Amino acid sequence: MAVIKTDLCGMFADEIAAVVASYGLERYRGRQIAEWIYRRGAADFGVMTSLPKDKRELLNRHFGIGAVKVQAEQHAADGSTSKFLLALSDGLAVETVLMRHRYGNSVCVSTQVGCGMGCIFCASTINGVIRNLTGGEILSQVLYINQFLRQFDAAVDSVVIMGSGEPLANYDNVLRFIKLCHQEYCLNMSYRSFTLSTAGLVPGIDRLASEGLPVTLAISLHAPNNVERSRLMPINEKYPLEELLAAADRYASVTGRRVTYEYTLISEINDFDRHARQLVGLMKRRLANVNLIPVNPVSESGLLRPDKVKVDRFLEILHNGGINATVRREMGTDIRAACGQLRHKVISDSRN
Ligand code: SF4
Repeated sequence: MAVIKTDLCGMFADEIAAVVASYGLERYRGRQIAEWIYRRGAADFGVMTSLPKDKRELLNRHFGIGAVKVQAEQHAADGSTSKFLLALSDGLAVETVLMRHRYGNSVCVSTQVGCGMGCIFCASTINGVIRNLTGGEILSQVLYINQFLRQFDAAVDSVVIMGSGEPLANYDNVLRFIKLCHQEYCLNMSYRSFTLSTAGLVPGIDRLASEGLPVTLAISLHAPNNVERSRLMPINEKYPLEELLAAADRYASVTGRRVTYEYTLISEINDFDRHARQLVGLMKRRLANVNLIPVNPVSESGLLRPDKVKVDRFLEILHNGGINATVRREMGTDIRAACGQLRHKVISDSRN
């Protein structure tokens, strides 16, 4: 019978210290092991040369380091974006995207396998939610990208929690991930380098505000009124716009952080002038940025991307209304960079 080993990836140094101490290792080894796993990307105990050989063998018998394995990858022709389908220990897979900006390397991590939110423009939700990722599995995505970037003598500078899954529906694991990345023995990242994107789980937004962490909150808005938003995002039935915006305002006032509103532009659905004007009405006098994202078409949904003229006009109406707004730079459309599309493609191809 195969021995199930305790996974150390995803534990804080003091937790590692406690579990290895029960096998006779000194408690200070906890931090040493954490540094090997998180800072130096060690995927097995054999390379941990600051530990005596017999201790490494003992660790190897009882513990594992839950690294992810790459199953598929795509690289945009312009080098701006790389997308990886990463297999977890149970064989399920999630997407992780590396975006190489002028100002640094940003990684978009997944927090669930699939998603239960049902947004109609999103490939991640086509088969529903399968399971939550652990904090260690979310962190493993960043560790993998750091490993990938070593060849360029670079590392991850910021994290957007915006891949498959609704992060606030997997709250404890997502918080563990963020707090772990912040530790000096781990990635030593400031809380300000994290952006968490939610479809609008109001209780989760308030809970996050109560943590007192300066993490940037992004709200997936996508429509400026309840009728149309509920059509695109069923979660709006439960937490309508008034409640969502009030929660976002509370978040902004508690943390002092400007909230980002993501607005995916879909041709002939939410890209008319009246939508832009309504959006101005919603965003006025709010501590907010609007990020317009021309949709990446998902072949099953039949949704189309508006042309550039329409996108520019939408942006102009927002600017004329005094709203801070930008269009997300086109990155990796040639590699189907939108949420869930690589995973969905691999699953679909394997069925054909
Ligand atoms: S857009 Fe985000 S919240 Fe909506 S279904 Fe996709 S992954 Fe889930």
